[in-house]
Amino acid sequence: MELPKAYNPKEVEDHIYKLWEESGFFTPEKLPGEKKGKFITCIAPPNITGELHIGHALELTMQDVLVRMKRMQGYKTLWVPGIDHAGIAAQNIVEKQLKKEGLSRHDLGREKFEQRIQEWKEKYGTAILDQFKKLGISVDWSRIRYTRDEKYEKAVLEAFNKYHKKGWIYKGYRVINWCVRCGTGISDLEVKHIPEKGKLYYIKYGPFTIATTRPETKLGDTGLAVHSDDERYKDYIEKDIEIDSIDNNIPPSEKPKLKKIKIKVVADETVEKFFGTGIIKITPAHDLTDFEISQRHNLPLIKIIDESGAMNQNAGKRYEGLKVSEAREKIIKDLEELGLLEKIEDYNHNVGRCDRCDSVIEPLPSNQWFLKVFELAKLAKEAIKKGEVKFYPDRWNEISLRWLENMRDWNISRQLWWGHKIPIQGENDVLDTWFSSALWPFAVLGWPEKTNDLSEYYPTNFITSDRGIVFLWQIRMIFSGKFFTNKAPFNDVYIHPTVLTKDGKRMSKSLGTGIDPVVLIEKYGTDALRFGLAYQNTGVQDMKFNEDVILTGKKFANKIWNIARYVLIKMGNEERDIKESSRDLKNEIIAKMDGAAINVKRNIENYNFGEAAHILYKFIWNEFADKYIEETKNKNDNETKDSLIYVLTNSLKLLHPFMPFITEEIWSKLPIKNKKMLLIENWPN
Ligand SMILES: [Zn+2]
Repeated sequence: MELPKAYNPKEVEDHIYKLWEESGFFTPEKLPGEKKGKFITCIAPPNITGELHIGHALELTMQDVLVRMKRMQGYKTLWVPGIDHAGIAAQNIVEKQLKKEGLSRHDLGREKFEQRIQEWKEKYGTAILDQFKKLGISVDWSRIRYTRDEKYEKAVLEAFNKYHKKGWIYKGYRVINWCVRCGTGISDLEVKHIPEKGKLYYIKYGPFTIATTRPETKLGDTGLAVHSDDERYKDYIEKDIEIDSIDNNIPPSEKPKLKKIKIKVVADETVEKFFGTGIIKITPAHDLTDFEISQRHNLPLIKIIDESGAMNQNAGKRYEGLKVSEAREKIIKDLEELGLLEKIEDYNHNVGRCDRCDSVIEPLPSNQWFLKVFELAKLAKEAIKKGEVKFYPDRWNEISLRWLENMRDWNISRQLWWGHKIPIQGENDVLDTWFSSALWPFAVLGWPEKTNDLSEYYPTNFITSDRGIVFLWQIRMIFSGKFFTNKAPFNDVYIHPTVLTKDGKRMSKSLGTGIDPVVLIEKYGTDALRFGLAYQNTGVQDMKFNEDVILTGKKFANKIWNIARYVLIKMGNEERDIKESSRDLKNEIIAKMDGAAINVKRNIENYNFGEAAHILYKFIWNEFADKYIEETKNKNDNETKDSLIYVLTNSLKLLHPFMPFITEEIWSKLPIKNKKMLLIENWPN
């Protein structure tokens, strides 16, 4: 048999993927032969609003490398695919569509709006999974799940009820991060802190001067705080002091007037002595830290900014109805006129913005549902300390424990219409989207029903993600798993590098710094992309993406193709057995081949994917092609032929997890006896 002169991924990839799907071997029950164990993993479900990006390509490639190796090693292998309903993200997309039609969600009403998202999901929500297929991932499509399918809804309900029965779900009036644009509370982890140029305003508070970036919040101040060791202020601690302030009931059209108010000074360890003047104002309603200080010292809470981002009646008629930015301008002018503004300085600071829509976050007090996490955090800590769950790289064990130590109760309610409704009478909020994601590894296998899948495939072995969601996702899966199933939901967590641009910038479609994997696949082929990504993944925390390495992957694919062509021509039409081991073939190339096989396996098992790719590249290109093949040009004896076929077949097997398409295609053309699909061939040694 002969191979065409050049390898053309476009002619091969879709066809090969179809053969794999038709073989049924992505489904563990259909794998032939005795199995020596199981290997189970779940996909990190992409959002229904998602599009394939380079981070997915890296993540799915690494996961597929592991899964394909385990399958070839004879494990009963299952990789469960699925998709997330993506509460806030999906709602935003459909709201934007409605806006183009001149409508808002309120015009539609809740039921029709939900229906509209559902329709959108049917039409576009699984597009990302088709893109995933392009990457060649070997998931069991017969087991695909969705966080809002009927069974999953039941799992979420069961989880909520179990927590509720424990008495861990409560309603609290708390200061939360509020996105005015999205109209919902969001978690700390969904707030991004962006460095911005701002101003620091020095305002007179009686005998003190206080520095603040947000003078408008002065209207909600209910205390002043200093560090307990600060000698400068020790005579004022726990005293009410009288100060001049603005009379906020003077109509805006009139000149500002002074008013005497009383305000208490408290001592708190958290105040930084050397920030500004060392004394800070406390606005409990509009700052998360101030809220905590106010709780410790019983300071009252006055809400002055409402959910639309405007000043409310508590701000007084002088400011009521103004947007925050307008109120800021007005109050600075008033302070200046009244002689209460000492100075203004330029100031670079971090501003909290909504991760979804970029709006400035307004912390404000709101009635929310919380889940007590004290006992749950304890379960997760135990699982990590006992090694039931291990993070790779291992620094993540420490980081996770530290985070669990300080975990605050989880605000599980969101003021959205799209999501799992909180199952309490008269409640309109939905659950935080991570509440359902936290159940993923056992809910996808059928929990809370006692299904065969659950007993056969749970707990799982492995999960992976980027570091951005360790606390949102992995940690919550660990404690949910321990609480609901009494088992850690997986043993190993691999945190893969975050992919940055070549010069170290964040990849973002809107910033124009994103790179589309589909374009790379068009240009170089999937195997080249997969190999190039693995090759660059050398244990770094941030991976600066280099397209040249994808080109290296393409050249490598061509090299392998040419090697295979050479070996096939040498073999002629003779069908041969592959020698099972190197016992019969004691030459140098065989020894090197076997050494490389051991190293590749060890490195994949330790999640050193880059190292494994480098070993394969060097062995195949330098040892096999450049040296050994050159030596065999004039040889036609049996030992040479056996050696060539031994090294080629083993190379293809080791390379298959990284470059599944080209290796399967070459494999299908090899004249060897009793051949299976490469997908399920035996892993070397
Ligand atoms: Zn937002």
